[in-house]
Amino acid sequence: MTDCLFCKVADHSLASDIVYEDDQIVVFKDIYPKADVHLLMVPRQHIASLAELDSVHDGLIARMMRLLPQIARQQGLDNGFRTIINTGPGGGQEVYHFHIHLLGGGSLPGFA
Ligand code: 5GP
Ligand code: ZN
Repeated sequence: MTDCLFCKVADHSLASDIVYEDDQIVVFKDIYPKADVHLLMVPRQHIASLAELDSVHDGLIARMMRLLPQIARQQGLDNGFRTIINTGPGGGQEVYHFHIHLLGGGSLPGFA
């Protein structure tokens, strides 16, 4: 999608601090980090939100899930990490390109 922020990050037309990318997935630093480590994992394919996932995405989602702990380890998060998916207006989603927040480090805020 041409007017989608995270499609632009994924195709490098919008500058971002990318920490990992492959043929299907891009991981980059959140521009307004809420913790010492705050990354966003996105599929290159435009999917608006978790609510739009379909069985055709099963392989992609499995890859994203298995990649998360690998990226966390690469970032030095040996003690654990938090993943968040905001979905829709009620879930606080601001960017409508499916993404998984990966957060960790000493400044991780409480979950309340
Ligand atoms: P959401 O609320 O949709 O789950 O989260 C969107 C996230 O994208 C927010 O944490 C916000 O800081 C981040 N964000 C918004 N615009 C940009 C941008 O242009 N570049 C990067 N790297 N992150 C962004
Ligand atoms: Zn997109």
